[in-house]
Amino acid sequence: MPTDKKHSLRGESLENAIKEDIENGLIPFYAVVTLGTTNSCAFDNLSECGVVGNKYNVWIHVDAAYAGSAFICPEYRHLMKGIETADSFNFNPHKWMLVNFDCSAMWLKDPSWLVNAFNVDPLYLKHDMQGSAPDYRHWQIPLGRRFRALKIWFVLRLYGVENIQTHIRRHCAFAKYFAKLCQEDTRFEIVGEVNMGLVCFRLKGSNERNEELLKRINGRGNVHMVPSKIDDVYFIRMAVCSRFTKTEDMDYTWKEVVAAACEILDN
Ligand SMILES: *Cc1c(COP(=O)(O)O)cnc(C)c1O
Repeated sequence: MPTDKKHSLRGESLENAIKEDIENGLIPFYAVVTLGTTNSCAFDNLSECGVVGNKYNVWIHVDAAYAGSAFICPEYRHLMKGIETADSFNFNPHKWMLVNFDCSAMWLKDPSWLVNAFNVDPLYLKHDMQGSAPDYRHWQIPLGRRFRALKIWFVLRLYGVENIQTHIRRHCAFAKYFAKLCQEDTRFEIVGEVNMGLVCFRLKGSNERNEELLKRINGRGNVHMVPSKIDDVYFIRMAVCSRFTKTEDMDYTWKEVVAAACEILDN
């Protein structure tokens, strides 16, 4: 599992893992390359891993659940370099593309793998338009599915590409701004890189101190944050989520963090 840049999955590690499996008599068949991890929004090296996957006939799935929405902006597309090597790609428009929950978009290079596995063709489901458009009931285990594509259509029509790009860029800029506030305070440190709308930070010092800090930040009831841990280092994650977020909210959030930290540091 990738955790931050230094732990991001590289082609060489994937190749070693595959070889080890084969030596142990196992048949590796599937690898997940994560673009924007949940822990710290780290990016695996898709262009390296994809080539390795293709070479060993290992299915490459790209998990871009959160960060995938950012690829609507050309300046972030370098992070999906090597996408042509992927067998499947998923991102969740409900996370960062303003579509209401739930909506996960999945792309497959060759849907016939799924269609052949899940095909359901009883007489009572036959229709005249068969073959002229995909029947998504063949792409999944359940028969019935909601018409989620309609929500995406409405969001695209309502906002347009440019406004969605603006939304993504604003969130990334808010994260950078929050990180700057954090960096200016020597009691704190940033953990890893600031990618997309996520800032991972902590008070310098022990994990316990940061667990206490998070308890107090959330306990004040004004902002909410979620922690994570990489290499046994506990940190706090500030994620920008709302389309209504303004710069002032970042100032406010940072003040909340500082107030909570002062409660601890004064004790
Ligand atoms: C949110 C998230 C998930 C979970 O996605 P589901 O579609 O709810 O299963 C998986 N991977 C990453 C990187 C995520 O950010």
